[in-house]
Amino acid sequence: MLSEFELIAKYFDRPTRHTVLGVGDDAALLVPTAGHELAASIDTMVEGAHFFPDVEPDLLGHKALAINLSDLAAMGATPKWAMLALTVPSTDETWLQGFARGFFALAAEHDVDLIGGDTARGPRNICVQIMGEVLQGRALRRDGARVGDDIWVSGHVGDAAAAVAHLKGEITLRGSLLAHCLARLERPAPRVALGRMLIGVANSAIDISDGLIADLEHICDRSAVGAAIEFAAIPCSAELMPLRGQARVARAILTGGDDYELCFTAVAGRRSAIEALSGQAGLALTRIGSIVAGKGVAVMNQTGKPMSVKDGGFDHFR
Ligand code: ADP
Ligand code: MG
Repeated sequence: MLSEFELIAKYFDRPTRHTVLGVGDDAALLVPTAGHELAASIDTMVEGAHFFPDVEPDLLGHKALAINLSDLAAMGATPKWAMLALTVPSTDETWLQGFARGFFALAAEHDVDLIGGDTARGPRNICVQIMGEVLQGRALRRDGARVGDDIWVSGHVGDAAAAVAHLKGEITLRGSLLAHCLARLERPAPRVALGRMLIGVANSAIDISDGLIADLEHICDRSAVGAAIEFAAIPCSAELMPLRGQARVARAILTGGDDYELCFTAVAGRRSAIEALSGQAGLALTRIGSIVAGKGVAVMNQTGKPMSVKDGGFDHFR
């Protein structure tokens, strides 16, 4: 059986690219770039609450880092350093190897150094802290939305939540639709490049981790504004499109989390700039509504009537 230190050395001590001192000392040493702010975020994933016990370890390694990268994407920051606090029930090397493979593959893709962490025995719990940089005063924030802004969403929403609904037995997905939705749930692609491109273009941004409505509500709260969006305008994948009329799927689109797309607002004068960014990022960017005076998020159906979205859950067409 591996000791704690053998485990760290074998699986988590990797060469770094832009760190003075990484794994192995009492603290890591980093040099921030002049003229930049440090952006820091942390997320915990608990077995049973955030992931099913039987999920492939490399998917977990990927996702634990991906959800943190997504938070930096939403700030327009460039991720650079990560720390990993890992609690595992045993030194199961198959699991550790898979986890490290998924984690470091995504870290390499984004040029992120793992610079330290903590390792303990207990019920499985994965906590990743990420740090990155953004030019001083330029970060995308939740509090910058202004009345009249367009509201945009990247990619598609609802796939990950549809996969969760399937896994819970609430709906049945088959074949390529199921594979598509599961991949979106298990291997989210953080929109880091898009976030950086939105600096100077978007007035506010958030990543969609808790659901479109809930996360857009955070922008509204922080910016002291309201939002009016059209259900029909919300982009969902071609795969999910045929099921869009089902109440459970509509709920996934409106309130399902785990998509890790970006929701952002920008003045109407930026529309063509944003359409150009869509081409550059290779990612659909869709206008779903506008920021209005008031508070909260109103969702309109095709006939322009408000839909009722209660307790974070889609209820019925009023
Ligand atoms: P300390 O006792 O000073 O907290 P630890 O024994 O917990 O140090 O960790 C030893 C070194 O290994 C530290 O540099 C720490 O950052 C790093 N480390 C521990 N666990 C992990 C991990 N899961 N991933 C990356 N680095 C880790
Ligand atoms: Mg420690």
